[in-house]
Amino acid sequence: MTESSKPQAQYLKDYKAPDFLIDHTELTFDLQPLTTKVSSLLTLTRVGDNKAPLVLDGIDLRLLSLSIDTVDITDYEIIGEQLIINNLPDSCQLSIVTEISPETNTSLEGLYLSGGAYCTQCEAQGFRKITYYMDRPDVLSTFDVTVIADTKFSQLLSNGNQVDSGETQDGRHFAKWQDPFKKPSYLFALVAGDFDVLKDNYITQSGKNVELALFVDKGNLSKTPHAIASLKKAMQWDEARFNLEYDLDIYMIVAVDFFNMGAMENKGLNIFNSKCVLANQETATDKDYHTIESIVGHEYFHNWTGNRVTCRDWFQLSLKEGLTVFRDQEFSSDLGSRALNRIDAVKVMRTHQFSEDAGPMAHPIRPEKVIEMNNFYTVTVYDKGAEVIRMMHTLLGEPNFQKGMALYFERHDGQAVTCDDFVSAMSDASGVNLDQFKRWYSQAGTSRLNAIQNFDLDSNTYSLTIEQFAPLNQQSNAPLHIPFAIELLDVNGQSIELEYQGEKVNHVLNVTQPSQTFHFDNMTAKPVAVLLEDFSAPCILNQETDEHELLHIIRFARSDFSRWDAQQQLFIKAMKANLNSVESVGLSDEIINALRGLVNEKQGDLALIAELLKLPSFDTLAAEFEVIPVDEIVNIAEQFERQIADELTNEFITCFESLIDDGSVNASAVAIRSLKQLCLHYLAKTNDPHAADFIKHAASSKNMTNVLGALSAAVKASHELCEELLNYFDSQWRHDVLVMDKWFALQAMQTGDNAIDNIKALYEHPCFDFSNPNRVRALVGSFSHFNTSQFHRLDGKGYALLGDLLIKLNAINPQNASRMLTPFMSWKRYDNTRSTAMRLQLERLANLDGLSADLFEKVEKALK
Ligand code: ZN
Repeated sequence: MTESSKPQAQYLKDYKAPDFLIDHTELTFDLQPLTTKVSSLLTLTRVGDNKAPLVLDGIDLRLLSLSIDTVDITDYEIIGEQLIINNLPDSCQLSIVTEISPETNTSLEGLYLSGGAYCTQCEAQGFRKITYYMDRPDVLSTFDVTVIADTKFSQLLSNGNQVDSGETQDGRHFAKWQDPFKKPSYLFALVAGDFDVLKDNYITQSGKNVELALFVDKGNLSKTPHAIASLKKAMQWDEARFNLEYDLDIYMIVAVDFFNMGAMENKGLNIFNSKCVLANQETATDKDYHTIESIVGHEYFHNWTGNRVTCRDWFQLSLKEGLTVFRDQEFSSDLGSRALNRIDAVKVMRTHQFSEDAGPMAHPIRPEKVIEMNNFYTVTVYDKGAEVIRMMHTLLGEPNFQKGMALYFERHDGQAVTCDDFVSAMSDASGVNLDQFKRWYSQAGTSRLNAIQNFDLDSNTYSLTIEQFAPLNQQSNAPLHIPFAIELLDVNGQSIELEYQGEKVNHVLNVTQPSQTFHFDNMTAKPVAVLLEDFSAPCILNQETDEHELLHIIRFARSDFSRWDAQQQLFIKAMKANLNSVESVGLSDEIINALRGLVNEKQGDLALIAELLKLPSFDTLAAEFEVIPVDEIVNIAEQFERQIADELTNEFITCFESLIDDGSVNASAVAIRSLKQLCLHYLAKTNDPHAADFIKHAASSKNMTNVLGALSAAVKASHELCEELLNYFDSQWRHDVLVMDKWFALQAMQTGDNAIDNIKALYEHPCFDFSNPNRVRALVGSFSHFNTSQFHRLDGKGYALLGDLLIKLNAINPQNASRMLTPFMSWKRYDNTRSTAMRLQLERLANLDGLSADLFEKVEKALK
């Protein structure tokens, strides 16, 4: 690539307010697969410099006409992806007619055809593939939209309220929509299709009736009740917890099969990946149910955090995403198990986010330099962003946090604002100084903490020193303001009241210095300390806690999250001990007995017990090393699993048989199924004849959670039943592509030596489709993320499989290609043989003709 043809970076520091406002936007779409005509009428007002040209963004558009009051404009030029119009009056109505081709648009951005229906995806910068526009989030406009199409597209939808509809003279039909709320172009949506609709309604707390409508492919109505129930719960929860009410008269959700992400919060017209909507007990797992509830909530919550108050520029993405993830996490936690939701969130942080933050794509939650915006919809912006909001919530407390939210809306409703504006509202409303805290927005990488404990018997004082170190890859970082939560337990497992010199001490310590010591007196014996309780800050904590103390925490900590965390620490310690010794020592009797106690006693939440019994994932273990010892981790994890399975075989059998699954969807039935699955997972690894019986029985169940649990146990144990079960599943579910995704994922997990050929053969399966991101991720994404031993084969064939795929996807769907590239980003963390083989694939991409900006940005960073 020559210097000038290289995709160019944008910088946060270069932000400039727009020179024009678009007060109103009128769009007419004449939908045709290859020649859709888009007529746009923009009401413009100049706000900037009176000589500034109007600069509009546009990609892959055929410009048919450009005029003011039917007078053609001649003083314009098209340079690259911009239309530049000179000498416009200070206010005018600009008419632009362009033509686009939805049918050939495989990028799934802009207007495209998904399984026969027209739909749009405009975030972040897809609107410019529809018409020339100021495609930036700080340009807010009202929209009137007219959609014209053949009558076979029976529903014609856009944002807001339908104000007109009818037939056209040439036998087609139209609908006209008006959105009274000003919005940026990324929230625009249009859908035209022939769907089944589930209609419902919701009465808001102030008594307003809101019509709800869920549009799905014909024949899928039986899979809609869960999503609509989730939507109503979300609407109710946002009123109860945040005092936020829905603002339009209608809320629509459309499910489509071809979609790059989970879902999109377009004003009044959400568009969802069908896998994040459709569910019934036969086709979806309990986990799918949970995911759907949380994503439906997430998109709904965006109506206030994202739509009513939006982002000034895309560097501020975490303003809406971090906050909305925090809100959806709270929604799930208030409705279900707070501990399990916290465990899930922390797993995402420790596996994906920490590894992103340690690699070449490391960026602050508010990035400063971006080439392709689509590359910044990351676990850092979303999940670390949510952790940053959560820390503010911890520092302020719920009442002050809610005051901050109220002030944020009072100040900024209808505006496009920055992360600084959000933090100001929080600190102004609460009186809590967040100046140092703001560094969380500008510093990348994961801080490392050391906890040093000291007990002085003479003075009965316990002291805790916390040291913070900059991330290994970001040495210039300044110290962060870290809310460090603790609990101190006495020998009996009782929580000790924290005090010092007669004063009570809050359990959230404010760590602001590189090294800081906190004292607690009135201690009669050395306490057992639960540190960074509930993962109160997204840091890596180094602690000297020994096995005995960890077991104490697992029994007594008030935070179920911290109990789980201590269990993970036990496993990690044991694994490291095994790595460092010549002969394998396995898990200690104490650990095995503690696990046995969990299975036998079944005290408390069964779903939590299932989590406590799970070994840390490969990624979690890998995060412990600078150079990842792939084979050692795989071998020791396998050895531990077999040891647990062998030593607790009878307990697992008894547990499995004693748990009765009544097939319902409530929390206790879900918990029972999760513990049963866990038992099956271990039993599949034994030679006990019960295993095959249980697996066969579960695999023939009418409940997908059980079926998938059985198949996954069989696949992960390379059980002899595998092939038969997989073939049977294929024969049963070929008609349902979403269910077949589960099958593709199982296939991808198989560890036999023919794994690669098997996947290549599956490319030919009638259900497989390279242009559908769900299929590609199910098969190849599962392989590269979870089939550790085959993906990381020493002969490099696993990497070549992914490299071949990326080259293919680069031309079809760059956004999906770029997301699939992620496993290669940490290539430097592997041994020589593997890192060389991974680099080879990155170099293949670097040399590719027509490399997309999406891949270019990541490949360049990776190879630097
Ligand atoms: Zn979001």
